[in-house]
Amino acid sequence: VEEPVPADYQKPKARYDWYQNGEKITVTIYAKCKSVSTEHLIIDRKKRDLRATLFLDDHVYTVHFDLFEEVTGECGEGIKVIAGPVHRVIFVLNKKNPDIKWVSLGKALEGNNTMIQRIDKEPTFRPCKVTTCQPLTHDIKLFGLELPSGCHMCLPTGYHVHLRVNVDGNDITRPYTAVPPSLLPPSYHGAETSGRIIHLMIKMYPDGQLTQQLSRLDVGDTVDASDYEGTFVESRLQRIDRLTLVAAGTGFTPMARLLDWCFGQQKQKPKHIKLIFFNKTEGDIPWRDDLTRLAETRHHNLEVVHVLSEPDQRWAGPRGRIRQELVEEFFWSPAQHPNETFLTCICGPTPFTQLAYKLSKAYGYANEMIHVFAA
Ligand code: NAD
Repeated sequence: VEEPVPADYQKPKARYDWYQNGEKITVTIYAKCKSVSTEHLIIDRKKRDLRATLFLDDHVYTVHFDLFEEVTGECGEGIKVIAGPVHRVIFVLNKKNPDIKWVSLGKALEGNNTMIQRIDKEPTFRPCKVTTCQPLTHDIKLFGLELPSGCHMCLPTGYHVHLRVNVDGNDITRPYTAVPPSLLPPSYHGAETSGRIIHLMIKMYPDGQLTQQLSRLDVGDTVDASDYEGTFVESRLQRIDRLTLVAAGTGFTPMARLLDWCFGQQKQKPKHIKLIFFNKTEGDIPWRDDLTRLAETRHHNLEVVHVLSEPDQRWAGPRGRIRQELVEEFFWSPAQHPNETFLTCICGPTPFTQLAYKLSKAYGYANEMIHVFAA
């Protein structure tokens, strides 16, 4: 559902500045926008070519330079945001030659100091190195992808990147939502916030053009990953009494980061969390043991319900696909908890998502109580 633009909407404004201090170059972007966090800045530096892309609402501000001199190391280490009426996003570059005094930041390149609409931005792809490749089920693998040196990108919760692979001379891209490396501690907010690594849970389909290529990827190989995209606003998880995660198959991927966020919070986390997870068979459920452990031992406010559409005879749990009867049995009823705040997140194959949305509405969930993940 497209949000109407409020009458008082003001296009975000931004500008940049820089200064040097001995061996360091500090770049500051001043952004006038509702909210900004370190996740909003992507840095891509290849030798002297530096591109800093700041995502502000539905706009993108770019700083793009052929730097005055070479720099070393990762730009990302120093990203800092100082919030205020004008937010300051600060990152630091380390001079390769500390003795040289820079007279400018360098030569401005294409797109420098411009603010454009997000939809008009051409995606930037960067070659990422596969650092881990771990089977989670018979057809799902968990990949750890390391961003190239000089690149910094933290994926916001529930966001996805596109992977690009060349098949017979044609580029094919598909979206994949980032997951944490594990559901169990101590992973919470660890590697994902370093801005250096992305974890993706990918199902290999026997006839999938791209997944056939991805299934051959191994540690040390590279694959191109785009900028992130998404619409989920993390602060929606705050002050929620009952959070329901309705996932089918790999539609679990955004839910994994949502759970990770909830488990990492001390305060303001949802009081009750229920994951209703639809899969074909028991063998298709990724991270099943971890989910069981979390529900049984560590996190008493998490309840997990598995629903299988093609179970074997031994399966004693709920069966079939999403339908009214299952919603009435497993969804919390807003009518029974009139004074509580609800959020229901839905993700899976499109027909599943559409039906889950329709059934949730029919069960009394208002629009603002539902978030649908659609890549
Ligand atoms: P799958 O084929 O293994 O099916 C899993 C379950 O989905 C089934 O057991 C069934 O309960 C349900 N289901 C499947 N088709 C249905 C239908 N037509 N109507 C009602 N229920 C149905 O699922 P998969 O192969 O893991 O596919 C997951 C899907 O989730 C993919 O289409 C993927 O694109 C999507 N996905 C979207 C996002 C996103 O938008 N951010 C993220 C991850 C995955």
